[in-house]
Amino acid sequence: MSSEHNILCIEDEADIQEIIAYNLERAGYTVTLANDGIKGLELAQTKHPDLILLDIMLPGLNGMQVCERLKADPKTQLIPIIMLSARSEEADVIGGLSRGADDYMTKPFSQAELLARIKVALRRKPNPNILSMGSLLLDLDAYHCSLNGKMLKLTTTEFKLLHTLMAQPGRAFSREQLILSALGEQSEVVDRNVDVHIRGVRKQLGEAASAIETVRGVGYRCDPNYTKTLANEAP
Ligand code: CA
Repeated sequence: MSSEHNILCIEDEADIQEIIAYNLERAGYTVTLANDGIKGLELAQTKHPDLILLDIMLPGLNGMQVCERLKADPKTQLIPIIMLSARSEEADVIGGLSRGADDYMTKPFSQAELLARIKVALRRKPNPNILSMGSLLLDLDAYHCSLNGKMLKLTTTEFKLLHTLMAQPGRAFSREQLILSALGEQSEVVDRNVDVHIRGVRKQLGEAASAIETVRGVGYRCDPNYTKTLANEAP
């Protein structure tokens, strides 16, 4: 295989790590290894691997916490993750999948199957039409928005405003800019109505309402640090 794909394997059991590294390298992959969650997270952020194999029971941060943080960070959120679990951790795996992991394998697994799953995950293109901030997901194809897996009922205007804000976290938009980017010049929404629509969005967001910040004298912005807060607070 002529693949230059780099795979990060976060696994604390030395013998499993060794077998995986041996087989992946033989299949033409470059392999980076981490023995604990904190080191794994750091390597994911600095090395930008093409795929991550993530054990669940890890020292430092466990696999679920690592997964959550990777998926909350725009720099790492598109990297496919395959969770590796012991049979007794299958309940945790469901949590991993709901936190954005792409696949999982239960130990012991065959190396041939692992290679096959890796190929599939690498082929799957991330969907650029899904924006996320922590567990807040905005699906631009299906036109729906969910928080912690629960569908929110946004009006079309609210959806468009949230989309504009989430597309550029940290950027402050004036009310006029928001109307222009989110709704276009033909919009009948006027400046002061933006506040009403934003209030509507916040109401739907409930506990996550503070993800949309009011910027005094300017307008609104998506809090770029909000995803971190959400990731840390989640169970
Ligand atoms: Ca382990």
